[in-house]
Amino acid sequence: MDTLIPEKMRAALLHEGSTSPVVDDIDVPDIDDEEVLVRVRACGIVPNLLNVVRRWSTVFPDLPLPPFPAVLGLDPAGEIADVGARVKGVKVGDRVYVSPIRTCNTCRHCADGDYLACAHYTFSGYFGFSPKSREIYKRYPSGGFAEYMRAPSYAVAKIPDRMSFDAAARMGYIGTAYGALRRAEVGPETVVLINGASGTLGLGGVLSALALGARRVLGVARNRTLLERVKALAPERIETWSTEDGPMDKWVNGITDGEGVDVALDCLPFGSPPELFLSSLMLVRRGGVVVNAGGVVGDVSLPLDTLMIKGISVLSSNWFTPKDAREMSALVDSGALDLSALTHQTYALSQLEQALSGFDSRQGGFTNIVIHPHE
Ligand SMILES: [Zn+2]
Repeated sequence: MDTLIPEKMRAALLHEGSTSPVVDDIDVPDIDDEEVLVRVRACGIVPNLLNVVRRWSTVFPDLPLPPFPAVLGLDPAGEIADVGARVKGVKVGDRVYVSPIRTCNTCRHCADGDYLACAHYTFSGYFGFSPKSREIYKRYPSGGFAEYMRAPSYAVAKIPDRMSFDAAARMGYIGTAYGALRRAEVGPETVVLINGASGTLGLGGVLSALALGARRVLGVARNRTLLERVKALAPERIETWSTEDGPMDKWVNGITDGEGVDVALDCLPFGSPPELFLSSLMLVRRGGVVVNAGGVVGDVSLPLDTLMIKGISVLSSNWFTPKDAREMSALVDSGALDLSALTHQTYALSQLEQALSGFDSRQGGFTNIVIHPHE
């Protein structure tokens, strides 16, 4: 191990039964031949972290948390501090985003690079998606609220010099929206509707749709002030609608000459009612696609006959692939994916509690709340 790497590090630990992480000294993790050690420079916080910290067992009791005391942190970015003997492609000093995805890395899906399909699919330092995540957590329990973290080499994606660590710490939700739009094959001819356009996920959808060349982006949300900021990102390509002004049918039909949108991406906040999802679903054109990546919970009655007759596909999207991450890095490097609209609100590791409270004062998705573990 590099002599510059200390034996101990500071980490924010969440103890069982507590909702307040505390900073303590723990061992810097070791790495094996296939892993890297990352010096974490920034780790993003998204609104759902409040659910994870405060009420997970009642929200999603079947999705396991990492073992306690837990080092959480979904979206870390930093520098490679050490590499295992068999790691190729990254070297000490490289700037990287660390995907939280941990998988078995041995099944047929992992062999194909389709990590999202692995039965062991787990977010390190956040939550798992099945009881199999408990096996993954034996090696990869921790996230980015620590000075260093261990990661398998497949989880790191190099980021371009022009992408700050703070911006990279937002990669998760931008990538979730980006991956959803890729699955819907958004391109230059596409008219995309983003439902929940001013939130953390939705703004990622707007920025990604612009980067992918979408002809028109229709942003729907409630807050008119935030919608003005969304519109200002690309006034000639973006149209916005506030749900406070009533149903959006006439507005969408006017823009699309009555055809409907090619793709609707649902980025609604956690706990949103099904009606909001259905309102955008019904505005998708014949042969179009609706992708749900948002927080609608509960059963939704889908008009399957109408969907079949019109050939409309309904997809779900959860996170993004390593390929998506590479593409996003390239798009940031070329300037097509422009993240300059984000305002970074940064906190030291000891201010994690305060950072979680920062959601009350944020400007929708424009505020990027980030922890700096070395401060
Ligand atoms: Zn697998």
